[in-house]
Parts: sequence; structure tokens; C-alpha cells
Amino acid sequence: MSTPPLAGGTTGPDALRPLLDIVLDALRDGAADRGGPLPPGGPGPVAARLSEAAGAVLPEQGTGAEEALRSLVRALTHGAADPADPLCAAHLHTPPLALAVAADLAASALNPSMDSWDQAPAASELETAVVRALAHEVYPAAPAPDALFTTGGTESNRLGLLLARERHGAVQVICGAATHHSVHRAAWLLGLPEPVAVPAGPGVLDPAGLDEALTDLPGPCLVVATAGTTDTGRIDPLPEIADLCVRHGAELHVDAAYGGPLLFSDKHRGLLAGLERADSVTLDLHKLGWQPVAAGVFAVPDRSRLGPLGVRTEYLNADDDTEAGLPDLLGRSLSTTRRPDVLKVAVTLRALGRAGLGELVDRVCAAAGQLADLVDQHPGLELYDRPALSTVLFRPVAADDEQTARIRRVLLTEGRAVFGRARADGRLWLKATLLNPHATTGDLEKLLELVEGSTHR
Ligand SMILES: *Cc1c(COP(=O)(O)O)cnc(C)c1O
Repeated sequence: MSTPPLAGGTTGPDALRPLLDIVLDALRDGAADRGGPLPPGGPGPVAARLSEAAGAVLPEQGTGAEEALRSLVRALTHGAADPADPLCAAHLHTPPLALAVAADLAASALNPSMDSWDQAPAASELETAVVRALAHEVYPAAPAPDALFTTGGTESNRLGLLLARERHGAVQVICGAATHHSVHRAAWLLGLPEPVAVPAGPGVLDPAGLDEALTDLPGPCLVVATAGTTDTGRIDPLPEIADLCVRHGAELHVDAAYGGPLLFSDKHRGLLAGLERADSVTLDLHKLGWQPVAAGVFAVPDRSRLGPLGVRTEYLNADDDTEAGLPDLLGRSLSTTRRPDVLKVAVTLRALGRAGLGELVDRVCAAAGQLADLVDQHPGLELYDRPALSTVLFRPVAADDEQTARIRRVLLTEGRAVFGRARADGRLWLKATLLNPHATTGDLEKLLELVEGSTHR
């Protein structure tokens, strides 16, 4: 076999073009093979088809680029849960924008690594500009806000806890009952005491309970509030929580992994009032932001806050190189090799503008309101609550928890719809997380019809 061509340089694009045609055909054909939001039949048939398509994982003699791309991309597409299908509405699993995916291809072809300037000259500049702009969205009044790209909310939350620990020692984390599990894992990993969960008010962090916890707990505390809980999309009362943190001398980290991009929407930005008072903020653009994974952001009000992440190593950021003016990027992550996730984000921000992104946010929030209306009007269905963001919890009136769980599994196994599940007020609910800005009223009605049709089976 001749040496396979590379993706970069002046000849890379010509080598890529025919391969991309194969990939794009396989994406289209695989989606047509699937014919729905996910493959029917459950894990057995998926495994069988994949093993047939994949054949030997590492054959002695390779099959060549065209065959390997065609068979594996098509099989993976056939077996995908595709968030671009409006009936795929379980998780904060976003349908990426075509323009962001196209940009990500360029990022892969160029393959800058963000850990040193000599591997990513322009990408480093772009990252600096984009994170500053995003940090400014979060902290509009701060003189020198800054942000980092991360692999997502999990890593951003871990950074929030880590930096609080570096400032104050072994902080006691206080959070709401609906706080994301990554906060508990971060405390565990960082050797911090087990987080104290404040008994919830109506699904959000209850200020009275928080006041009591802050009064009772000795030592430095870090309050972790959530702007958009994973299960119900609710937003903790950030202004009251920020006031309590000031009064008790506690730090505040806000996990806005889900709700953060409301900042782009004139209509919904007000829901995040108080966010700018946090000591650090988690925000994901691979949820409301429509980026392919990964596009996590971690923001702080002042760039000096990131100091503890600094590290020196001769081969990446020698002192004399830094003194000579080469930017030092190693301290902008706990990772070393790091993808230029900035490119797809920069392309999206520029192509859509704040108005365009805000409109996408408004659209999915409106779809959630509409789905809630449809549930409300349906005599056979019960709505948990009006949606705060783009998540709607509901269940058939006639179903108990076990039957509700079964409905979800039946639709999943038949490949007809993908719902999530959430426990709230002691009961199990079907969860529709609406992130598809193209979803129509007909799609929302179809989601409910499918649930109704599976209720008595
Ligand atoms: C999704 C989510 C996370 C985790 O983010 P990842 O990007 O999956 O690591 C954390 N917190 C909240 C509130 C989330 O919705």
C-alpha cells in the first residue's frame, strides 16, 4: 500500500475531497437506513450489524481508505441516536450546526495543539480573543474577565472547585439537591469534604436552607448554584444566593452548563441575573450552543484567578521564550495536548452573531413552552411544571413509575423516539429536552402520540 496522504498543506485538501464525498454519502445513506431517531431493535441488532460492517478491527492487510470510511461511517450512522431527528429528545445532546461541523473539519485537518504557541500560532490568538469575548458576556462589568476552553461542564466544575481550594484551602462545598453529579465527583477527586446538599425548595437551591447551612458550617465554603438543572432545567435564585455568599464570606461557583447561553438571548438573558456575581462560571456550548462535542467554557471575573493553573516546562514554555514574547498557553488548561475547539465556536459566533444564537435559544425555549401546552391540554397526560428552559417533564396520568419507565424503553427499543427520564417530587417522569431549533408543532405532537400509543401496551 502506498503511504496514505496527509490532510494538511496545499495537497491535503485535494486528498480530502474524494474522501469527504464518501463520508457525506455514508452519512446520508446511514441515516436513510436507520429511518428514525435511533436504530430499532435495541443493543443486540446494533451489535450484530456493527460487527458485520466492521469485520476485523485490525486486519493483517488493510481494506483501504474508501472501504473503511464507507463501511464504518455508514454503520455508525445507521446505529446512531441522531439529535438532528426531532424525536431524539432525551438529553442535553445537541444537534450540531452544519457550519460548526465544517469548521471542526478544518480544525482536525490543521490539528493545532493548544499547549504551546509553536504548535498553534493563529489558533492561540483566536482562542485568546474568543475566550475574552465569552468571558465579557458572562462578566460585562469586570475589567479583565477571562475564560478557558474545557471538555465540558464536568471539567469546568472541577476547575471551579480546584481554584476555590487553591484560594481558601479545603473548602466545604454547599450545593442544591439537583446539583450535577460532576460536582460531587470533583470534591471527591480534589480531596474536599463530601458536599452538603441543601434541602431543595421547589427544585431549586432554597435560600433559607442555604442561609442555615452557611451559618452552621465552620470554615471556608464554596456554594455551587445551578443555572439550568440537568433534570428539569430550573435556575437557582442567583441574586439571593449571591447576597448570602457575600453575607457569609463564601465563594460562589455557578454551573450554567445548560442555561449559560441564555446570555445570547435578549428575551431570556434576565433569567441569569446575578450570574456576573459568581467567582467562576461553567458554560457549555455543546448544549445550547449547537457545537459538536467538545465546547466547554470556564469563566472567571479576573484573569489573575487562573494563576494556579500555571506550569513551566522547558520544552513547551521555557522562561526565556516567554520573556521573548511567545504567549504561554500551557496554563490555560490542565491538559497538555488540546484540540482547537475555538475554531468551530469562533465560526459560529461570527456567522450567527448574538442575534442569531439568541434566536436559536428562543426557538427551543418556545418549543418547550408549546410542548408543555400540548401536555396540559391532553387529558391523558400530566405536566410536571412549566418549563424554565427547554426541558419538559410529563407522564401519562394512568401510568405508575414502572409503566412510565417501560414506555421510555419500548420507544427506545423500537427506535421510534428517545426520551430521557427524571425523578422529581418522588415520581418518575418522561423528560423531553428540546434542543432542535427545527422541531415543528407536528414533531411535538408526534412525541406525545408516541407516548400515548405505548401507554397501554
Ligand atoms: C451537562 C451538564 C454538566 C456536565 O457537562 P459535560 O459537558 O457533560 O461534562 C454539568 N452540569 C450541568 C448542569 C449540566 O447540564
